[in-house]
Amino acid sequence: MIKLTELDYLPDGLLERPASALHQQLDGPTLIHLKGKNKRPLFVSVLQHGNEVTGWEALRRLLKGRYQNQELPRSLLIFIGNIQAARHRLRRLDEQADYNRCWPGGNAVDLEHVRLFKQIHQRIVAARPIAGIDIHNNTGLNPHYAAINRIRSDHLYLASLFSSQLVYFTMPGGTLSHSLSKFFPAVTLECGQAGEIHGTDHTLNYLETCLRLEIIPRKRVDADAVHLFHMVATVKVSNDVLFGFGRVPADLALREDLDHFNFCELPPGTSFGDINNGNMQPLIATDTSGSDVTDRYFSFEQGKVETIREIMPSMLTLDRRVIQQDCLCYLMERIHYEDHEEVTGRDPLPDGMRRSDRPGEPVHEI
Ligand SMILES: [Zn+2]
Repeated sequence: MIKLTELDYLPDGLLERPASALHQQLDGPTLIHLKGKNKRPLFVSVLQHGNEVTGWEALRRLLKGRYQNQELPRSLLIFIGNIQAARHRLRRLDEQADYNRCWPGGNAVDLEHVRLFKQIHQRIVAARPIAGIDIHNNTGLNPHYAAINRIRSDHLYLASLFSSQLVYFTMPGGTLSHSLSKFFPAVTLECGQAGEIHGTDHTLNYLETCLRLEIIPRKRVDADAVHLFHMVATVKVSNDVLFGFGRVPADLALREDLDHFNFCELPPGTSFGDINNGNMQPLIATDTSGSDVTDRYFSFEQGKVETIREIMPSMLTLDRRVIQQDCLCYLMERIHYEDHEEVTGRDPLPDGMRRSDRPGEPVHEI
């Protein structure tokens, strides 16, 4: 049975280990509480997906390099997720649930994990973090970006310290940042592809900045500094359509530089590629409720696949396996968040705690 390990120290030698060797020292999901000058912790989650190692690499460098002989400016609560998958350099093992779908609020069916993650969630919330940061990598040529689950100024501010490009999402359900965002500002970081040194550098500097934050201000962020998008559709290549990249005789010949469109706001009329077999619809776009919305975004006239409204793709990849198993890309649209922002309101408290019990709570409400 899988269970939580909870520690209030860093085991000797742990920071020497790359993600793939953590299993030699840890059994499974682990929470580590480290004390710092300011007692209210920053929560950081790494390796929910075992092959997304940037978070752990950044933490190792933070704790080994910058704070080896120096007190942390703020306490740190660390969650180390899927150690068994990390051992095999996989997102997850075949028989495992996806960790980042098992948190409260989701509808994962793996009851063992759902129960465990509910317990871990309670432990995290009870520690009253100032903020939560869940660190991931992705495939394809994507810029680093941060994702939030509530459109509120303190969530936007926390995310904007990582990137000016932000994504708002509430689906898929059961993600860690979504489950935490009810209690305190929480972000999911997408730090580019695993193993890239500038991804680790960027993440390390972000963690350092967050550790030094006195408060997370709840005042309106500058609309020019933050660009917020949300996902409106998933695009797949239709079944039975043979596809390739560049000048190929396949039914659908996609541009070979298609992944350069990631996070670019494309004008209507942008070409994704050519159709060599005019009798089929090469792409299918579905919205978040599963309805076919292809006509809203693409035209397939005169042998061309073209966009018909302003749109921003993300996760475009040239990896055939990913396209076949998952999708070609997501489509995003800009949110004018001034119209949506929750300006007031207080976060709920953990079970059993009254508002006057909040230790050293900074006043961050306007
Ligand atoms: Zn991930």
